[in-house]
Amino acid sequence: MEVPEEISAGTTDIIIVGAGVAGAALAYSLGKDGRRVRVIERDLNAPDRIAGECLMPGGYLKLIELGLKDCVDGIDAQPAFGLVVHKDGKDATLSFPLEKFESHVAAKCFRNGRFVQKLREKAASLHNVSLEQGTVTSLLEKNGTVKGVHYKDTSGRVQTAYAPLTIVCDGCFSNLRRSLCNPKVDIPSHYVGLVLTNCKIPNENYGDLILADPSPILFYPISSTEIRCLVDIPSRHVPSVSNGEMAHYLKTLVAPKVFPELQNSFLSAIEKDNIRVMPNRIMAAAPHPTPGAFLIGDAFNMRHAITGGGMTVALSDVVLLRDLLRPLHDLSDASAICNYLESFYTLRKPMSSTINTLANVLQIVFRAPTDPVTEDIQQASFGYLRLGAACSNGISAIFSGLYPRPFSLAFHFCAIVIYGTCRLLLPFPSPKRLRNAAKFLWVASSILLPFIWSEGVRQMFFPLTVPAYYRTPPGNKDRNV
Ligand SMILES: Cc1cc2nc3c(=O)[nH]c(=O)nc-3n(C[C@H](O)[C@H](O)[C@H](O)COP(=O)(O)OP(=O)(O)OC[C@H]3O[C@@H](n4cnc5c(N)ncnc54)[C@H](O)[C@@H]3O)c2cc1C
Repeated sequence: MEVPEEISAGTTDIIIVGAGVAGAALAYSLGKDGRRVRVIERDLNAPDRIAGECLMPGGYLKLIELGLKDCVDGIDAQPAFGLVVHKDGKDATLSFPLEKFESHVAAKCFRNGRFVQKLREKAASLHNVSLEQGTVTSLLEKNGTVKGVHYKDTSGRVQTAYAPLTIVCDGCFSNLRRSLCNPKVDIPSHYVGLVLTNCKIPNENYGDLILADPSPILFYPISSTEIRCLVDIPSRHVPSVSNGEMAHYLKTLVAPKVFPELQNSFLSAIEKDNIRVMPNRIMAAAPHPTPGAFLIGDAFNMRHAITGGGMTVALSDVVLLRDLLRPLHDLSDASAICNYLESFYTLRKPMSSTINTLANVLQIVFRAPTDPVTEDIQQASFGYLRLGAACSNGISAIFSGLYPRPFSLAFHFCAIVIYGTCRLLLPFPSPKRLRNAAKFLWVASSILLPFIWSEGVRQMFFPLTVPAYYRTPPGNKDRNV
């Protein structure tokens, strides 16, 4: 039986679709602010996935801001203080700039399912947050305003839930985002995930990234006894797991590039036949502001997972949305709220644009070079990181989410390009060297500029010139630009 709109809407302020990292954290923070929140999640069992297992220090600070710090307690989370990048027997250490923070601030690595269940428990512990299992099938729209959702409950019956605001956080495979944004999804590569046991990575409390041919390989601990290994394979080459081609690829092409001390564990993880594959998706944020609805998390914006930034961006967006909604006591004027919330898309840029751009650029730069120019670009980037001091610290400050400054990112990209060009021109600029340097500049710019463009140059670098930046809660006058 359908619940009459006025009764149901009167008992719920906000519907949240999906209780993953973004949805569960948002439900808790809005519940804490006194909102009556109804969360509809497709599967309340602990997720078993290879994504979202390393929360950067900047994301951990957001977790603390949301009052969710204890969600990384009791799940055997492992601290990480940086990343070591390896290439041809040399390495570059990227340590997170944690000096100014308390000693517990670090990246936190864990099993994603354990973390998500903790977030859900926290949300459900609030009397004004209800968490129920159901699959949302569509948004309920009337005259261009979203009034709620249609969902299938656990018995398969179609139900309707109403609320003045619906926040969609249904993750990377979202089937609800279509009417709320302009989704252009690119899948440059897939991560193949294995869990290694009975071994230790070479650098305790650091992740390790091997720039190997044919595939970059990433290792980090996800519990006191397990190491996550992710092998990045370009989408056009992903071998099939079911017919054994993937196991063959991993054994013959990837295993020889793995650290010798991890090789036995790597091979036995393949034998255990639990090879997991997940696409690495890139999707720029391109919202269609819609009264009554809002989109966040991977449903809204995705970047390559090489720097593990997705949860940091999602939690940063949750903090921002919570703060924007805080002064609104009445959510009934959907159009006014929609107009006000457009400021979110600019305010989120420092964190989202820096993490997105760095990840999307690095996934190209760090993949196996296919020609001398891409080899030069990889060498220049790796060489720059090996310079240490301000060079490696500047990059780790950004990918840790601790100092998300677009101009700092632009500065380091320019510095890498200058460093790479000088390397090619020295000791003196012969015609051949000048030609190579020109090709280097051309290819480097064609990697970098489209990602900056897709973030929006104005929103990223000159947010104060965007009128929406100055929106104030309905009822207040806009501040002057
Ligand atoms: C291979 C890989 C590795 C990654 N590694 C990292 C990492 O180390 N660190 C990091 O920060 N990020 C990482 N990410 C990104 C990270 O996983 C995401 O950014 C993050 O999980 C996004 O959170 P979310 O809440 O938007 O989505 P999710 O956490 O995926 O949650 C979406 C939720 O919505 C539910 N749902 C979906 N459809 C419906 C529906 N119709 N009705 C109801 N519920 C629904 C799902 O069941 C799920 O619970 C990785 C991504 C990939 C692909």
